[in-house]
Amino acid sequence: MKNGEKKHSFTNSFILKMLNNKRKKGELCYMKSIMNMPGLKDVLITKIEEIEGKYALYIELPKVPHTCPSCRSITSKVHDYRIQRISHLKWFERLTVLYYKRRRYSCSCGKRFSEKSSFIDRYQRFSKEWNQAIQILGVKSPTFKSVAEKMGTSISTVIRRFDKVAEKQLTSGVTLPKIIAIDEYKGDTNAGKFQLVIANAETHEPIDILPNRRKDTIKQYLQEYGDQVEIVVMDMNQSFKAAVKDALNRPVIIADRFHYCRYIYWALDKVRRSVQGEWHVYDRKRLKRMRYVFYKREAQLNEKQLWELNRYRSLSPLLKSAHELKGFYNKGSIIYVGVLKQFTL
Ligand SMILES: [Zn+2]
Repeated sequence: MKNGEKKHSFTNSFILKMLNNKRKKGELCYMKSIMNMPGLKDVLITKIEEIEGKYALYIELPKVPHTCPSCRSITSKVHDYRIQRISHLKWFERLTVLYYKRRRYSCSCGKRFSEKSSFIDRYQRFSKEWNQAIQILGVKSPTFKSVAEKMGTSISTVIRRFDKVAEKQLTSGVTLPKIIAIDEYKGDTNAGKFQLVIANAETHEPIDILPNRRKDTIKQYLQEYGDQVEIVVMDMNQSFKAAVKDALNRPVIIADRFHYCRYIYWALDKVRRSVQGEWHVYDRKRLKRMRYVFYKREAQLNEKQLWELNRYRSLSPLLKSAHELKGFYNKGSIIYVGVLKQFTL
């Protein structure tokens, strides 16, 4: 750093405190510091203002030697500055606009060029962070309209970004996990146009977006990327389920969410029955009567029921682990089915 600029690494909470202290003045604070903000690494913030409910961040990058794109020699000579306006992420629940004072360097060969900046794609009005956020929200939010409001932009912009993700995802390689979920997705402005979101059923993260819900689209997609898929969870009609099964052309479990939960209990029950078959008739009959202790959540069992549960679990390591896995599923994981399948199929 030159010119006696202070170099700080402020935390977000520190900045928030500072903003609150100075909120009454139009200008919130004035500083030259290195920010530690997602997407704005190493950016120099020269001023922060609050304008009509939005934060305006005035930023620039530190002066560093650049390689001339024309003759490859090194230059630090500044030619001029331009101010570029960039819509950025929400910051402390406010929309943030960046005013980026973009430096241009000049080389002795006569070439003039813009400095390198990691936080903005060249010639783009929106920052990378903003683009990422809008793409994720576009997939996860129920409507495009709500994304547009959240991000302070138009619905058509959100849809354009969404289509771009869909297109990119379709062309880049994807390997699907063992358990996937397929959901229909419909934006409220794209009348009648459904898309399919392919998600990881365990983490609920969207993996891919298909441009429509035609059977040949999903068939082609699964044939290309679905080698690992063993279970598909979806609430769709029977002919669509048949199409998915047909596309994978081997035994897979297709289940909607409701039956899927039942399947888990059914699988546990199957383990219980196979295990108790080997037991003494007393324990067998007793467990049959008491089997509900295996299906209730442990927290809801009373002392006696808990004692029964632990007794049966101690009689069979297999039953014990099957029951533990059910608890795991209850916590929101779907790994259970994959493991249980090995017990039961
Ligand atoms: Zn040059």
